[in-house]
Amino acid sequence: MARLELYGQPVSPGIGTGSVVLAEQPKGPHIPRHIQADQVVAALQLFEAARERAIGKLSKVQAATSEELGIEDAAIYGAQIAILQDPSVLQEIRTLIAEKLLAAESAIQAAVEKFGKQFEQLEGGDIKNWAADLRDPWHAVGRELAMDSSVASPMNADQPIILVAEELVPSLVTRYPRESLAGIVCRRGGRFSHGAVVARSFGIPTVTGLDQIEQKAQPGETAVVYADKACLLLGVEAEELEAANRRKAQSRVVQDALRERALQPAATADGHRVAILANIESPRDLGIFDTEVVDGVGLFRTEFAYMERPTFPSVQEQADLYRRVLETFEGKPVVFRTLDIGNDKTLRYFTMPQEANPALGWRGLRLGLEWKDLLLAQIQALIDCQDAGDVRILLPMVTVIEEVRQVRKLIKNFLPADTAMPPLGCMVEVPSAALALADIAAEVDFVSVGTNDLVQYLFAVDRDNPWVTDLYQPFHPAHLRLLLHIAQTCKATGTPVSVCGEMAGQPEGALFLVGAGFDQLSVAPPFVSELKAILGQVQTQNLQEMAHQAAACQNSEEAFEILETAAHKAWAQVVDRFQGCSG
Ligand code: PEP
Ligand code: MG
Repeated sequence: MARLELYGQPVSPGIGTGSVVLAEQPKGPHIPRHIQADQVVAALQLFEAARERAIGKLSKVQAATSEELGIEDAAIYGAQIAILQDPSVLQEIRTLIAEKLLAAESAIQAAVEKFGKQFEQLEGGDIKNWAADLRDPWHAVGRELAMDSSVASPMNADQPIILVAEELVPSLVTRYPRESLAGIVCRRGGRFSHGAVVARSFGIPTVTGLDQIEQKAQPGETAVVYADKACLLLGVEAEELEAANRRKAQSRVVQDALRERALQPAATADGHRVAILANIESPRDLGIFDTEVVDGVGLFRTEFAYMERPTFPSVQEQADLYRRVLETFEGKPVVFRTLDIGNDKTLRYFTMPQEANPALGWRGLRLGLEWKDLLLAQIQALIDCQDAGDVRILLPMVTVIEEVRQVRKLIKNFLPADTAMPPLGCMVEVPSAALALADIAAEVDFVSVGTNDLVQYLFAVDRDNPWVTDLYQPFHPAHLRLLLHIAQTCKATGTPVSVCGEMAGQPEGALFLVGAGFDQLSVAPPFVSELKAILGQVQTQNLQEMAHQAAACQNSEEAFEILETAAHKAWAQVVDRFQGCSG
């Protein structure tokens, strides 16, 4: 088999090696099957029985997931059950059987296509993913009807498998034993889709956006997924497979050793303390890393807890969820960012108006100030659980000072006068807020810099659009200079500041940021140990000089090279030390 090297989008990190299994047999176009009028009753009965069986199986997975991973993960299956009970889809299917005389599987196919197309015609990346969320449970009913065991056959596979599928849906991840699922690669599936959420929580290296992958991958061939690099290798020979397995094993050994040392607070070689906090998206994330290695949560993206549900959570449900996170961190700060929906993050139960430029439209705090009840319900829930830990509230997408003032006024009018208010901070992720920070700082208790959006809005380049990705340049001196300005303004105004964009979790980015004067970084948990080890090798003064040197460059390549050289040197020292101690 020919060797192929393909690149897509990273969804869940790690290295996976195994044999290719196609999740579904390649299908031709569905040819509708008709029944006779006297077969309608039997067809309806078959349909109901298959639907019941599918619901029964989903309920079992829901119960098992709830026990193992928590109620939030299980909510996905609750939503799938709800989809199988949706009256409009049910009525459509029953009518197609009874009046159009379609066989049950053809009626399901037609109804799901109809409703799926309706979703797909809507604007917004994540709405399109709902079409997949809708199809997935109905396909399960179709499989029940066909008694199709071919799809489920790899359940007894004892070899690691790389699962290849058209679309990343939740049932893909749960259809196979977790220990044999070494990687998942798909043609479609957004970073915010439910399937992506489950893949990350199960720690399965996953890549999507691989064009025609079901045609390119051959069942049984050996494949390697380097999910961090969004890379899939097909038709891999023994030597390359061994190299990947070696890297996997090495990274596990180094990670284990570093994790032990990461229990110490982070500091540079000369003792300058840097707080390292975690970015989390759900209480589920707490189960996949050692919470003791971080100084708290610098960013809890609360919208994910909303996105994974079929309906709005009540104030009580929100408070229960936030309380669990606070209790885990036992008094360490937890920064809860209020709902940052809009653009690519949408809620199925909250219809947004169509916008020509959603990234520049109703997003983050702009929504909270329009639908004030949503914002106030969340703030109420956060205030209600203050007794459980150190609550901090962070406002997303702040653009001008008046927005912060409006929030303060709204809260003041809403809460009884004697209510203790947690510290209130704002994200700096829009260039106008960065440049007017000296004024805004007077209105907030802390600031958190979101470099993911800051780069998007500074360079006018969509962060998710592959066509313009070359212009998305976190290490461009224009961005580095803006970051220096933010750090200096926070220092001058005495405002506590952290950086929670992805750049903070990258060694080159962390070295620049600490040199620029940021001494709190909030990063994805898998990066914490490595970052702490690298910081332990560098001198603060060198970092300061390097940060100014990089910001004075003319382009990203020159700036990055300075930082990359320093990061490589520091990492080589870490490995040397580690080998010295372990040898
Ligand atoms: C950011 O914009 O850098 C950020 C942390 O927020 P998000 O990635 O959730 O938009
Ligand atoms: Mg952002």
